[in-house]
This record gives sequence, C-alpha cells and structure tokens, in this order.
Amino acid sequence: MRKKMVAGNWKMNKNLQEGVALATELKQLVINPKCEVVIATPFIHLATIAQLLKDSPIALAAENCADKPAGAFTGEVSAEMVKSTGAQYCILGHSERRAYYHEDYDILREKVLLALQNQLKPIFCIGEVKEEREAGKQNQVVKAQLEGSVFNLTPEQFQNITLAYEPVWAIGTGLTATPQQAQEMHAYIRSLIQQKYGEQIAQDTTILYGGSCNAKNAAELFQNPDVDGGLIGGASLKAPDFLTIINAR
Ligand code: PEP
Repeated sequence: MRKKMVAGNWKMNKNLQEGVALATELKQLVINPKCEVVIATPFIHLATIAQLLKDSPIALAAENCADKPAGAFTGEVSAEMVKSTGAQYCILGHSERRAYYHEDYDILREKVLLALQNQLKPIFCIGEVKEEREAGKQNQVVKAQLEGSVFNLTPEQFQNITLAYEPVWAIGTGLTATPQQAQEMHAYIRSLIQQKYGEQIAQDTTILYGGSCNAKNAAELFQNPDVDGGLIGGASLKAPDFLTIINAR
C-alpha cells in the first residue's frame, strides 16, 4: 500500500513566532493521523520547529534548497543545511519557483539529486499553466517536467520521490481541478511511471493533488483512486482547516 499524505506549504507566510504558534497548535491537534502529515515552512523556522515536532507524528519539509552543494552562493541554503535542521522532506519544482525564480529542468534535476544525496525526500511538483490546459497540452507538459528532472533517477532513488500534481491555474486562485480532471492526470502520471520504472514502483508512488484544495473539497478529491493526498497552500495556514483536510484523507 502506497503512503497517503497531506502536506502543508506555508510559502512566505508567518514570522518565526507565528510559525511556532501554528506548529504548536497543529502538534496538539494532530494525534495518530491516518496518513503522513508534513508541514513545509520557511528555512528560518526549520530548526526551531524540528525541535518542537520531535515527539509528534508531523514531519517537516523545506520549501526549496540550493542547486549547489556548498560554497560562495550568498543567500542560498543547501540540502545538507536543511537536513541538519532535522527536516525530512523538501518541496522542489513548485510552480512559483519555476515562474518567479526561473528554475528550469536542469536546475531542478540538480536540486533533486542534492536532496536525495542528503537523505531528504523530495516532494516534486509538476503541472501545467492555464494556456497549456486550454490548448490540451497538459499531458505533454507534465511528461516533459518528469523527463526533465526526475526520470534520470535510478529506481532506488525514484522510490524516495513524492509527486504533487499542481495545475498552476488552480494554485491560490480558488479554481480547483474537478475530481475527474485530477484523477485523469494522476492516472496518466502513474502510467508514465509504470512505463519508466515498472508496475510495482508506479503502484508505490504517492501522487498528491495541489491547487485550492480546502476543507470543503478535499474529501471529494481524495476519493479518487490515484489521488493519494494533497499539497495544501492557503488552507494549511489555519490549523482547524488543515486538520479537516488531514481527516478527509
Ligand atoms: C501550493 O502552493 O502548493 C498550493 C496548492 O496552494 P493553494 O492550496 O493555496 O492553491
């Protein structure tokens, strides 16, 4: 049985004190969850929140890491540094990083490799923009993103990847993919993994849906056989909403 997961992406929200308060609230609310629960926080929160979550089932993720291992890269944070805080996961390939910071397939391939070399499990995001969906090119786009940055991995490496299908037109817009659109894409992604790595790895890969998933629509999205959970932005910033989504999985 593949792992089910609900992961929160805080993005650039919450100062350290507010982040500690939210993580403390979540720690009190999330007891014996039925799925893996992850929160992805800004870099500067990681070490503090890792300590806070030590005796909690909630795992911790960074939202990014550098594409270089170490050295003269002012302002960057390496995968090794992330790992040393106690975080276990790292979101990579988020559409905001691709669009605003020009992270292309090659940069993301390096980041994924560095995360894996440092025993961080990537949550790798893929998804098409509105114009690509309107032109019927969503499958082509997602295939190229996988081939460009993660299908170079060995089967052993790939087994540490969680994928997140996040149609860009649905992120932070209130427009959610329909359960049918999500299922169709997730099944397609699983078929690509099957062609590349075989049936067992395809069946074992966790594929999350992200894009305006909230306390109201999560249960319907998670009912689909190939939707293994969610990557949640806005709705992960309110503990009761995030808990409702966790309980829907
Ligand atoms: C995200 O940023 O990964 C995301 C899915 O955001 P939202 O839930 O706010 O659409």
